[in-house]
Amino acid sequence: MSITEYESFLLDGIKAVQDWQAHWPAFSEDETTQIDFQQFKAIFKTFTKRLQENYPYFHPLYAGQMLKPPHPVAVLGYLTAMLINPNNHALDSSEATSKMEKECIEAFGKLFGFQTPLGHLTGGGTTANLEALWVAKQLHPQQKIAFSDQAHYTHQRMCDLMGIETVKIASTPDGTMDLSNLEVHLQADNIGTVVATLGTTALGALDPLNDLVALKNQYGFRIHVDTAYGGFYSVLAKTDTAFSQYQAIAHCDSVVLDPHKQGLQPYGCGCVIFSDPGVGKCYKHDSPYTYFTSSELHLGEISLECSRSGAAAAALWLTLQCFPLEVNHGFGPILQKTRQAALTFAQHLQESPTFALFLPPQLDIVTYFPQAASTQAISDEAERIFKSAMASQNHPLYLALLKVNAEKFKALHPQIEVNSAEVNIFRSCLLKPEHAAAVPQILASLHHHAAQSVSLAGSH
Ligand SMILES: *Cc1c(COP(=O)(O)O)cnc(C)c1O
Repeated sequence: MSITEYESFLLDGIKAVQDWQAHWPAFSEDETTQIDFQQFKAIFKTFTKRLQENYPYFHPLYAGQMLKPPHPVAVLGYLTAMLINPNNHALDSSEATSKMEKECIEAFGKLFGFQTPLGHLTGGGTTANLEALWVAKQLHPQQKIAFSDQAHYTHQRMCDLMGIETVKIASTPDGTMDLSNLEVHLQADNIGTVVATLGTTALGALDPLNDLVALKNQYGFRIHVDTAYGGFYSVLAKTDTAFSQYQAIAHCDSVVLDPHKQGLQPYGCGCVIFSDPGVGKCYKHDSPYTYFTSSELHLGEISLECSRSGAAAAALWLTLQCFPLEVNHGFGPILQKTRQAALTFAQHLQESPTFALFLPPQLDIVTYFPQAASTQAISDEAERIFKSAMASQNHPLYLALLKVNAEKFKALHPQIEVNSAEVNIFRSCLLKPEHAAAVPQILASLHHHAAQSVSLAGSH
């Protein structure tokens, strides 16, 4: 669809809500909330101008952090439902969008292989993980929670918040959980829950979930899977062995997915799902304001948060109607493109005399660095290219830097001299399908700036 066609649906959405509103007696807007046209025109102009102070996340030459605008369909869903502004806390406050949310959870539950999923959307991955860890604490109050040193930083923070003791598991040089180190801790520490990450935030690395499930059967602990970034790749798990770890989610206890990362949604849309609906008992509460008037499940009864955006659920529901979680239709082809972008980009970097691949990508996050003799020289060169590329008029390219521990770096690249504690390398999240076609342009720009910064450095 063209942008004009999307805009026409936006007007249709506004009209549909107005038609719905027309079922009730007319009233006029209070004067206290009226604003003057001319005055607003000026304010809005300032506002739209200020919004230009952003990097172009929408563009394929933005190959940095995990950022992109939502799909127009999600925007349509969000804006239209937001005119009603349902609150998915209770059915009474969001009958239509609560149903949509439950259907989305059903779809995700099926994707992950959960027979009777219980879950809901959240403001984001952090709150979703908080909730899974909170349930873990309710079920095993005396036991510790373990996660690797590559797990998202908020796991430690949330455990601190809840007074849960944690165990940090070492990672192997490829960024995945070291299961032999985990086993040492399983024997020595009182571990009740292990957090596995499928798609670490820094490297997009996949913890060995199949083997972890085998350990779970042996030692008896809960597994929480944090797949906030990479969870949508489950769609490809049955047809592409690169993603076979995702099939093991079916044997885990809880999972977190962020539709606002790979799922084409605006912020904030995270999601937590439990395989055992019995965990609902952890949430018993007595809100004095409760307006739970039906006997059906209100999402607020199984959520740590109270008010939640019904518009976020509407946006996700509408998106999943257009882009189902299927291999050959909807999300499958999108993820095949982003994956292809990462593989092609990685292959070219490997063959380049100027750059080198830090690690082969397991998802669509590519980590690489400019070739140089020492870790400090690599960092200096990476920072120079980073700034030069971003400031360029003719060859703009937006990258992101990632700090890697120098010893971990050396384990993968032993020929490079270590003369700093950390190395700054590049990390490109190729999460837009348009990245696949842009790989040659990204590479050309990288080489252009690499050559330029060498000559600049030489002139000093
Ligand atoms: C992004 C991310 C989080 C945090 O999610 P937010 O939506 O940013 O709160 C947690 N875990 C992983 C693996 C992530 O990639």
